[in-house]
Amino acid sequence: MDILTLKSKVKLGCNLCDKCCIYRGDIRLLPINVWRISKYLNISVTEFLDKYTDRPKKSKLELVLKTTGELKQCILYDDQEKKCGIHSVKPLQCVMFPLVPENLKRDYFVDSGQCRLEDAKEITVNEWVNGNNKIYSKNKKICMEWILFIEWAQMKINEFSEIEIDELYKILFENYNPRKWNIIRQMKKNMWEAEKFIKENLK
Ligand code: SF4
Ligand code: SF4
Repeated sequence: MDILTLKSKVKLGCNLCDKCCIYRGDIRLLPINVWRISKYLNISVTEFLDKYTDRPKKSKLELVLKTTGELKQCILYDDQEKKCGIHSVKPLQCVMFPLVPENLKRDYFVDSGQCRLEDAKEITVNEWVNGNNKIYSKNKKICMEWILFIEWAQMKINEFSEIEIDELYKILFENYNPRKWNIIRQMKKNMWEAEKFIKENLK
């Protein structure tokens, strides 16, 4: 597959066919997604976590959006409007689709080929991934920090009990005080606290 940079030209567009949002069980959420989406939906973080998210494996620090029905449609797809129900705060993975990151640090992407529009116009990768509120450029750095943290944490928590992993989820995803911290600072603070918790409870 060709490596694409932000300057590469691609033929992409969207006719709201909904393919992005079905057969999806893998829309991973960062804590900032949890807080932004719950605010957008005007519900509490705990309500959002309960109603809209799943933990696919209890032993992994991974949170994904729930899916519904045989088509495994994303729970946040708006069936009446026929489009994403949280477009302005959608997760990075959805913003980039059908592109997938090959190397986030270098802004390298590959085209998964899962969206093919005959009449799509030629645009740059930058226009595609940053067209929606600049979600890509605003979140790339914290996303890379998160990936590094999760890779490290996952290696350390193999022997952790379910109770300890639940506690880590609470530290990472539920602990948010918007009056005190901006969203990125809160996420970094929580990762730091989770790291401390992991080190203190290493078997
Ligand atoms: S698959 Fe392509 S056309 Fe369909 S909703 Fe996704 S981006 Fe739009
Ligand atoms: S968050 Fe929006 S774009 Fe992403 S899968 Fe769900 S409905 Fe589709």
